[in-house]
Amino acid sequence: MIGNIVIVVVSVIGMEVFALLFHKFYMHGPGWGWHESHHKHTEGYFETNDLYAVWFSVIAAALFVLGSLYWMPLWYIALGFTIYGILYGFVHDGLVHQRWPFRITVKRGYLYRLILAHRMHHHVTTKHGAVSFGFLWAEKPDVLKAQLKAKKAA
Ligand SMILES: [Zn+2]
Ligand SMILES: [Zn+2]
Repeated sequence: MIGNIVIVVVSVIGMEVFALLFHKFYMHGPGWGWHESHHKHTEGYFETNDLYAVWFSVIAAALFVLGSLYWMPLWYIALGFTIYGILYGFVHDGLVHQRWPFRITVKRGYLYRLILAHRMHHHVTTKHGAVSFGFLWAEKPDVLKAQLKAKKAA
């Protein structure tokens, strides 16, 4: 039991590390073609960038199936991925981009720091020059402001 909880927690943390690197080096790199829609204003509710979420859901579903068939730890890794997906959806699509049909505003604490950080990520509408690529982890707003300034100057 304890071992499985550890696997889930490590998977959630691992996914944030992976998501940060994937966002920075792939989505703002070769994968910009899909991600660009999220940095520019697009018509309608969905954007091409949502295809990333679709793919990650397919991968998580496949891991659940493979895990239950062959190796249970994989099932718990899939559970960690899914919990990460829910947290990501709540913070990124919910709190930051307000894609839900109601309004929740957070004005203080760590969640507010995450919201400010991701808003700063969206200061840039181009492939290069963005700051703050994490979703559940972010630097302090002052640090990001300085980074953004330095990148703009460069
Ligand atoms: Zn981005
Ligand atoms: Zn965003």
